[in-house]
Amino acid sequence: MTSFSQDQLLILLLSPAIGSFIGLLADRLPRGEPIALTRSACRSCARPLAPRDLMPVLSFLITRGRCRHCGATLPGWLLYTELAAIGLAVWAVMVAEVIPAPLIATALWLLLALCLCDLLWLRLPDLLTGALALFALGLSWAGYGPSLMLALIGMVCGAGSFWGIRLIYRHLRGREGLGLGDVKLMAGLGALIGPFDLPLVVLIAAASLLAVAVSRALTGTTPLTARQPLPFGAALAAAGGLFYVLSL
Ligand SMILES: [Zn+2]
Repeated sequence: MTSFSQDQLLILLLSPAIGSFIGLLADRLPRGEPIALTRSACRSCARPLAPRDLMPVLSFLITRGRCRHCGATLPGWLLYTELAAIGLAVWAVMVAEVIPAPLIATALWLLLALCLCDLLWLRLPDLLTGALALFALGLSWAGYGPSLMLALIGMVCGAGSFWGIRLIYRHLRGREGLGLGDVKLMAGLGALIGPFDLPLVVLIAAASLLAVAVSRALTGTTPLTARQPLPFGAALAAAGGLFYVLSL
């Protein structure tokens, strides 16, 4: 029988609640709403949610994804985010050897929050990109992951390359092609995985995003045009998370 250390058990037990918190961050941060000191309420009828409405996973399943007061359908991504947070905690426990599982899980949860914000809003909030960069530098400072020097080089390479692409694109096309959020995300990813894997992360993120966009265009879901905004940050966060775990 597999035995878990205390810290591994803790993150497994906390992961559903952390998934709920990530959902709350993704719901409020891009709207500029406070993330604390405000009770959660139904977006449709504004009735405050009771504790029994806030049980991760269970509340959604019991109410079948509907508000108990007005019957409005709750967004499915709330449930999927909680399940994804649990899945990432399990993944962190499975791959943890040198780096403690809670640290791996925290990096993955931050990337999940960024991925979600970009998918929902095409936004990468500064609070999350900043937290990722600081956390990644903290990991290196503590001796986990790339050395502090490599993390800093990765940070400069990640942000610098995207900053350059952003400038060139704006010069050539006369409009924004890459958001500043993507530049900040690349700083955090560069610090987390170091400079060497960054080009591959960008390549895989771009190829995956293009594959999804083309398949959606072929099925008639969304037309593929040069001006169609795509959640590149979400693809970067997902590819970055994958490379981070593979590099452990
Ligand atoms: Zn309601």
